[in-house]
Amino acid sequence: MTQKVDRIVVVGGGSAGWMVAAALVTGLKGRACVEVVESEDIGIIGVGEATFPSIRNYNQLIGVDERDFLRATNGTYKLGIRFCDWLDVGKDYFHTFGHFGNLFGSQTLWGQHRRMGLTEPLGVQCVPTVMAMKGRFVLPDDQAQFKYAYHFDAVQYAAFLRNLALQRGARHTLGRITEVSRRADGGVAAVQLEDGRRIEGDLFVDCSGFRSLLLGRTLEEPFVDFSHWLPVDGAWACPTERVGEELTPYTQATALEGGWAWRIPLQNRTGHGHVFSSRFIDADRAREQLLARLDGKPLGEPRLLRFTTGHRERFWVHNVVAIGLSSGFLEPLESTSIYLIQDGISRLMTLLTAGRPLDENDRALFNDGAARRFTRIRDFIILHYCLTRRRDSELWRHVSSMVLPETLAFRMELWRRYGVLHEYDEEGFDATSWLAIHAGMEHWPERNDPVFSEIPRERAMAALDQRRKAIAASVERMPQHHRTLLKMLG
Ligand code: FAD
Repeated sequence: MTQKVDRIVVVGGGSAGWMVAAALVTGLKGRACVEVVESEDIGIIGVGEATFPSIRNYNQLIGVDERDFLRATNGTYKLGIRFCDWLDVGKDYFHTFGHFGNLFGSQTLWGQHRRMGLTEPLGVQCVPTVMAMKGRFVLPDDQAQFKYAYHFDAVQYAAFLRNLALQRGARHTLGRITEVSRRADGGVAAVQLEDGRRIEGDLFVDCSGFRSLLLGRTLEEPFVDFSHWLPVDGAWACPTERVGEELTPYTQATALEGGWAWRIPLQNRTGHGHVFSSRFIDADRAREQLLARLDGKPLGEPRLLRFTTGHRERFWVHNVVAIGLSSGFLEPLESTSIYLIQDGISRLMTLLTAGRPLDENDRALFNDGAARRFTRIRDFIILHYCLTRRRDSELWRHVSSMVLPETLAFRMELWRRYGVLHEYDEEGFDATSWLAIHAGMEHWPERNDPVFSEIPRERAMAALDQRRKAIAASVERMPQHHRTLLKMLG
């Protein structure tokens, strides 16, 4: 059945709902009416402070000035994620949004030199990794070999986007949806609020968070469960007061007994959380472990969140398209939720601006793209766990011995046997990202690239040494992250 879209109802006013609304009113320029319905009583999840570089494309698309954004959200710059204790307790590595030099060779070259006794981490060849370790940050110029993202307050970001969307013509209705009426074809005709108000629409964007009010509860779309591979299912979150002037330009993810802990610096506070698997640690113990790690005065009691990793089988069914947590969640290890929201928005916008009624093919295209992204990101996240050498608790014994998804097992085999990294960028993580995790987890190809085997060892070492020194010297001249930020904020 084809569908015309004059009235779009966005159910939910969290980051997803307001990101969708701001993009729709900006991109559709009055061609459709956009109404956001949210319940203040239910509120929003309010975590989700670390992002992926593509957030900058989204902000640019809707015309947001970086300074306004950073001021409104207590934002800081992010160069990547520092993973502590994932391979072994006491070892750490960095996943950055930058290059390691000549990628299609240097990874095998590097592996070769590791076998010959070179002990430095691969990160010394990467500008943003060295910047991060030294606490430096500058905005990249056109020649720079890196991208950056942000940390921000998710509640403030939603409020910032709400103002922007309302200024550009979005409608806003407060109230709890208690009933959903269906159309004869099975789609949604209207949502009804507690006080009896009824809101009709042609297209409903379900941004109702973990409740998945329309796609999950009403249309009963099945859930594809990933918890065998990604067993974390809860998180304690507890921000603390910021201590001192300095700000790390990265997220820290530290592996613990039954999960991992995040540390995210904002201008006014530091976000802390412990993501854990209730199969391997009980919630009280996870809470204690978080409290023991805090590096500042807690700003309130820790808050417990529960979730299941996975996604809805289809994302767009009839006239309901789910974006955000209502469509699925892959755990926050690589800060991919907001990226997936943004990706969903951009694919939805492409279809809505095509200038013709939407049909079954459009929905199938959308669903296929979303499922592929979830699967690829799932595999990328599993890679962080399955290569561990830790065997000190049940969680680590489980993830190091579990049978991997075939898609991931294939990619790992390609790398191990031939040093080949697939060049995907559709799922957000390109070959450089895969290399960073393989290298950080000391997982190298079994054989040398024959081309690089021809390079005399001294020449290769000299080239690596030269690049390392040049990077170190240029980073030394860069300002500290908090100084760059203060200058930007003006
Ligand atoms: P929510 O914020 O839950 O919003 C749901 C909305 O629906 C609310 O406005 C609510 O009022 C409304 N609603 C629900 N039911 C009704 C009803 N019956 N009537 C009316 N309104 C209703 N993402 C990242 O990108 N980076 C991170 O670092 C990150 N960390 C995370 C850590 C944890 C522990 C968790 C659980 C998530 C994390 N995320 C992260 C995910 C991120 O928080 C979400 O993707 C993002 O906030 C979007 O949430 P949402 O808008 O889909 O849902």
